Amino acid sequence: MLDINILDKIKEIRTPFYLYDMELLENTVREVVRLSEKYGMEVHYAVKANANARILDCIASHGLGADCVSGNEVLFALERGFPAGKIAFSGVGKTDWEIEAAVRNGIFSLNCESLPEIEVVDSIARKLNTRAGIFVRINPNIDAHTHKYITTGLEENKFGVSEHEFDALADLLQRCEHLDFKGLHFHIGSQILDVEDVYATECSRVRDIVSYFEGKGLRIAHVDLGGGLGVDYTDPDSRPVPDFETWFRTLAEGLRTDSGHAPSYRLHVEPGRSIVAQCGTLVTRLIYVKHGADKTFLITDAGMNDLIRPALYGAYHKVENLSALTRPGSAEKKYDVVGPVCESSDVWGEGRILPESFRGDLMAIRSAGAYGQVMACRYNMRDLAPAVYYDGKGEILEQY
Ligand SMILES: *Cc1c(COP(=O)(O)O)cnc(C)c1O
Repeated sequence: MLDINILDKIKEIRTPFYLYDMELLENTVREVVRLSEKYGMEVHYAVKANANARILDCIASHGLGADCVSGNEVLFALERGFPAGKIAFSGVGKTDWEIEAAVRNGIFSLNCESLPEIEVVDSIARKLNTRAGIFVRINPNIDAHTHKYITTGLEENKFGVSEHEFDALADLLQRCEHLDFKGLHFHIGSQILDVEDVYATECSRVRDIVSYFEGKGLRIAHVDLGGGLGVDYTDPDSRPVPDFETWFRTLAEGLRTDSGHAPSYRLHVEPGRSIVAQCGTLVTRLIYVKHGADKTFLITDAGMNDLIRPALYGAYHKVENLSALTRPGSAEKKYDVVGPVCESSDVWGEGRILPESFRGDLMAIRSAGAYGQVMACRYNMRDLAPAVYYDGKGEILEQY
């Protein structure tokens, strides 16, 4: 539940808007930094989860690196203070200008996803008379036990180089003179909750694949295991800071050598969702309570254009009635909570049990900090929801 003190401060703000708890973000980033030191891992925040300047500034100020998936993300990460030496750039379809911008800025690595891309990066680096640092993203053919649209490590997915090309890949890397091949990259999916099982499987595949390439005479100095740690959407307050410890420990243990030593390569991870999901809430106002034939609809002024995850992946977000906090003891009712956009998939939740709700109530759609505002669009010519940030004392820091 959101802090009741914040309610007074936000009730006059025009809805819908994204509300960010900067203290929770700060605590989350601190925990990630603490564990990255404990387990000796380098962390690159996946910028695509939330690219708001204020959020990037907070994350960069704690020394994390960035994982980007477009040229614009790379340039923006640099602008917000992420050092070039800590920026990785992934994506299956990097264009020539994006590659050139990344190489010119001397970022840590371009995570190449195909053989033709490796050749293009090599030729662009040659043209610029320099060398480009690269990782090669591998498709390890592992099921992340998550939604079909957010699984990325199966051979049927478009990501990474698959096993049938490993020989050709090793040959190509030996030939490219303008590349500084640093290591292997993996990212098998998102919102992974089966952490110990899925990541232990990934680690054992990673060990086999590393041995294969070392056997081909390539030096693997770094291994990047990507992101994917899931968060609790059903009960966001039970664990506001996700369980990074289990994730980091599973990875560190899973990659130990047979004799129990830490691996010879440096480990990297790229969490996105797990850092920012819980600090964001989409705040919306109830415009109508509508009695259907056999259900009651609560119609909010936020819609799928503001937060597309439910419509896109059938994702669950907890919905709360903030105004009901000031009416203790009100009866509970069953509602379908829906947005105003002209699409039947514009639904926040069906059959949700909420306190009796009225026109004008402020509602909270929780865990909206990741893949929320970044995916917003102006469908139906609706305005983009702005962001409001507050600190640990419930003071509004910034509003736009
Ligand atoms: C999206 C993405 C991530 C972050 O995934 P999360 O599930 O948000 O942690 C990390 N690495 C790559 C390559 C990605 O595309």
